[in-house]
Amino acid sequence: MSTIILENALNELPRFPDNDLVIIGGGPGGYVSAIKAAHLGLKVVLLEKDKLGGVCLNKGCIPTKALISTAEVLNHIQRAEEFGIQVKDYSFDFPAIMKRKDQITRRLSSGVEQLMKANQVRVIRGKGQIVEPGTIEVLSAEGQKEVIKTRNIIIATGSSVMKLPIPGLDLEGVITSDEALSLSELPSKMIIIGGGVVGIEFAGIFKALGVEVTVVEMLPRILLPIDEEITLRLTQLLKKRGIEILTDCKVKGIKKNNQNLEVLVSNSDREKKLETEKVLLAAGRVPELGNIDVQRLGIELDRKAIKVDEKMRTNIPSIYAVGDVVGKIMLAHVASQEGIIAAENITGKEVLMDYRAVPNCVFSMPEVASVGLTEEESRKENSNIKVSKFPFIANGKALGMGETEGMVKIIANSDTLKLLGVHILGAHASDLIAEGALALTMEATAEEIVNTIHAHPTLAETTAEAVEGITGKPIHREGIEMDPRYRCLNCGRIWRSGEIMVVCPVCRSKPIKIKDGVDIREVEDQIYQKKRHPRYFDNLKKGQIKKKAKAMNRERLDQKKKI
Ligand SMILES: Cc1cc2nc3c(=O)[nH]c(=O)nc-3n(C[C@H](O)[C@H](O)[C@H](O)COP(=O)(O)OP(=O)(O)OC[C@H]3O[C@@H](n4cnc5c(N)ncnc54)[C@H](O)[C@@H]3O)c2cc1C
Repeated sequence: MSTIILENALNELPRFPDNDLVIIGGGPGGYVSAIKAAHLGLKVVLLEKDKLGGVCLNKGCIPTKALISTAEVLNHIQRAEEFGIQVKDYSFDFPAIMKRKDQITRRLSSGVEQLMKANQVRVIRGKGQIVEPGTIEVLSAEGQKEVIKTRNIIIATGSSVMKLPIPGLDLEGVITSDEALSLSELPSKMIIIGGGVVGIEFAGIFKALGVEVTVVEMLPRILLPIDEEITLRLTQLLKKRGIEILTDCKVKGIKKNNQNLEVLVSNSDREKKLETEKVLLAAGRVPELGNIDVQRLGIELDRKAIKVDEKMRTNIPSIYAVGDVVGKIMLAHVASQEGIIAAENITGKEVLMDYRAVPNCVFSMPEVASVGLTEEESRKENSNIKVSKFPFIANGKALGMGETEGMVKIIANSDTLKLLGVHILGAHASDLIAEGALALTMEATAEEIVNTIHAHPTLAETTAEAVEGITGKPIHREGIEMDPRYRCLNCGRIWRSGEIMVVCPVCRSKPIKIKDGVDIREVEDQIYQKKRHPRYFDNLKKGQIKKKAKAMNRERLDQKKKI
């Protein structure tokens, strides 16, 4: 079979017989590697079956951020009075919002097209298939075939939505992020399956547009890879905005119920039926092999992803893979960096992909951005760590902007003062994290950051102040209470967090929290022991737990008064 294809291929006389590189997939992994390879003097062909820019420009990063900007404008209008502005009446036009988003993505996609021309990268519209190393067949939408010969191949075919084994996912009204970005009208209610980045971003968008939103997450908290304290605070802020968040909760099935959908959810002790107009499946993405017959070619996989080494090489010489298809960190900037690394290695440079300082952003409202280790990871890996925080409320620029929610949290090695992690919750966190990424890449110490003059008044000063807490004391922090304290009703541990906590971060039990005034520093270290400790209220019923907890709290307050 493959000999016939090869013979045909040779007969079809490739127009570019001596390509240095053919890239399959024109997303941020593929098109960036094409440009880099062209800069390095290679003759490059880029194959794309759909639109240039891939998921990122057309169905991911850019369209969601265009909608988030609309949501932010709406939030500002709603808060106009705080700024002394009366907005008597306002309304929005959903089709116009979607049109704006489409114009932005079209503009960027055609920008990529221009970049390809400017760099003399030949773009072929069609589906690429590797016949064998060095030979690729492209099938256009019109059914025309072309065979291309090349010295190297980069597979950059991206990812697709992860399907879950939930009955009813095929019902009308159950959508993925692709359809959510092309809705013609807004639903009244939406249940989002998955409290990861995509789920949380859509929750913010639809809530701002007046949709009743519930996020169902099967794990104990949303945004699991992010620092626990930051996600717990974000959870409170999202709940304050009216987004319902159900954690430790699984979707068991979806049924049609007249015009609506009925979603059966369950947690450890009970099941509940939720009615909704739309269900958005946002439970993650899986590498997309783009119909490339990896088995026949002998390309090794790591579960569903293409296995690569640090140079982005597969096990087949001359075949590389980058981006979501290698399944390391599914982010556009990671895909692009991997693409650059692959292009450089193809030209004979010896460069390795380094994932230690990858910034991770969640465009929620407020935003979350982080780089490096979380507090939990740092404590596991290092015995000597120091944590410092600085709240947005103590920053002049944030106050002026009315963006006082949030904080910068810095984790550093207390011996070397090298930064281990930077975590930001607050306005423009995604822009502020660049400093953290640079610091971690340069292996900067807290002193080096403190000695860097930060312009005033800027949000960036929050980072400088937080880092100052590693070397000494932040200048502007005195007198600001940023750690309300809570007591778990089950295990009795004290935890610092915001107003409402869903589960105790230590014993994961519910119910949780009573505000009290115990000095947290005494028990701080115990919190990280993370063992499931004896539940000394185990034998008590819920009502009794509440009574007991109230009594405990009263006792503590009395004691405090006496002191
Ligand atoms: C809703 C959403 C929001 C997101 N927001 C962000 C964000 O804010 N920041 C961020 O960093 N990341 C974000 N991401 C993730 C980001 O979009 C991806 O990590 C990124 O697009 C991966 O780039 P890639 O080049 O690997 O693949 P893709 O962008 O998926 O591109 C792959 C391309 O390959 C093409 N292709 C596939 N098979 C073939 C074939 N056989 N022949 C020819 N062409 C083929 C596809 O048509 C596609 O255009 C988001 C994702 C989603 C879904």
